[in-house]
Amino acid sequence: MASEPVEGGWLSRWLRQYIRLRWMAVAAVVAGLLVARYVLNLDLSLFPSLVIVAVIVLYNTIFALWQGRRPAEKREAFGAARSDRRFALVQVISDLLALTALLHFVGGIETPFFLFYLFHVGFGSIMLSRRDAYMVAGLTVGLFLLLAGAEYAGWISHVHLEELAPVGLYRNAMYLVVLTVGFAAALFGLTAGATIIVEQLRRQYEREAQARERELVEAGQRLEELDRMRAFFLALASHDLKTPLAVVANYLQAILDGFVGEVNEKQRVWMERANVRVLELIRLINDFLDVSQLAPERIAEEMEFVLLEDVVRRSSEEMRPKAEEKEVTLEIRIPEGLPSVYVAPRRLQQVVTNLLDNGVKFSPRGGLVVLEVHQYENVVQVDVVDQGPGISALYLSHIFEDYFRVQRKEFIPGAGLGLSTARKIVEAHGGEIWVTSPCFGDGKGSRFSFSLPLSPQERSDKE
Ligand code: ADP
Repeated sequence: MASEPVEGGWLSRWLRQYIRLRWMAVAAVVAGLLVARYVLNLDLSLFPSLVIVAVIVLYNTIFALWQGRRPAEKREAFGAARSDRRFALVQVISDLLALTALLHFVGGIETPFFLFYLFHVGFGSIMLSRRDAYMVAGLTVGLFLLLAGAEYAGWISHVHLEELAPVGLYRNAMYLVVLTVGFAAALFGLTAGATIIVEQLRRQYEREAQARERELVEAGQRLEELDRMRAFFLALASHDLKTPLAVVANYLQAILDGFVGEVNEKQRVWMERANVRVLELIRLINDFLDVSQLAPERIAEEMEFVLLEDVVRRSSEEMRPKAEEKEVTLEIRIPEGLPSVYVAPRRLQQVVTNLLDNGVKFSPRGGLVVLEVHQYENVVQVDVVDQGPGISALYLSHIFEDYFRVQRKEFIPGAGLGLSTARKIVEAHGGEIWVTSPCFGDGKGSRFSFSLPLSPQERSDKE
């Protein structure tokens, strides 16, 4: 049967349970009828009762199919959808009608089976709105009266079960009045009790939900506050650290360029090393600062047509002092006639610089770092290959995450932001970035690659 649960609130779950219970009730009624007829030998005509049971089977099948197909709906407070409530009402009313008909064929109100009404009224009080619950209680009293009244007045014949009640009890007016009043009091008492409990549970649920919502809002505010503080400290870092460092770098460069007199060879070597360290520190600070400026919209604003070759050359020039200091050879291979690409040049340069920087940083002294550009049909791809130690498979899947750094024995400066920054920039261009490591047979070396899509115009430029 297609009664696979529909995602829903508590009422949806109750309704599925209700349908399951109805199957059990059907089995119990059939068993009860058979026992009454053939074991207890009551004078009961089975056919009409079984017809009613068949009707119950039919509508329960329809309910089960309907329940399985209904899409999940927006829930009201306390997780109940309006359509769930309507569906519950239809089911309760169907049951009340079926029970009234069945009651008629098993002795009317003379038998205790009318107590089953309590079951439906109880269920209704839990599943329905308060108003509908009282309406169901009223309807039940009405059906009870209708059955009793119709039999009393002789509009329908009475089925008398010899062994269960004295003859003519159904025509005993006093019995009828007392039974009806008592029964109605029990029904409304049950409805009042159940709806009060359900209402209290609903209020408690709502209070808890509101408290949870308040906590979420407060957590959100705290996060915003932290974000503001972070931005403040970043701005502070930018001003208080970066500015003086940039001045130091300028002075060093001025000394190296001979503005303040002759620099001997030994001084030059030491000064160049100091300069490389200062530039490294500036790049580190830039990495921190850039994290907050990597929103794709901001990158999109800076896009223009540029020659990829220019971007790559600028990056490699930037890296050259550091490479020379480590005696690493930087080799740039760019094919002739590359089309111009639509990119944010400053950002793209940062991607290439970050990859070259890592390549040099992890290369052994005297190593080789190769940057190669390829153009394929729809994309242009840049590969940066180094002869460094490679990256363990354990870390590969995290390498492009914010602040992720591989634990290494020797100290290598970095903030764990270079690759994540590169990823964000490449993705903002609609491209992809990936790593193959190790990339040489001896278990060493890394190849970092990224590709950028070429627009139809860029492709036709090439042709
Ligand atoms: P960082 O600025 O700290 O280098 P990255 O995001 O650039 O941060 O790199 C993250 C980690 O990936 C680094 O800690 C480093 O160990 C590893 N890694 C990056 N590039 C290479 C490479 N070419 N060879 C070996 N390991 C690398």
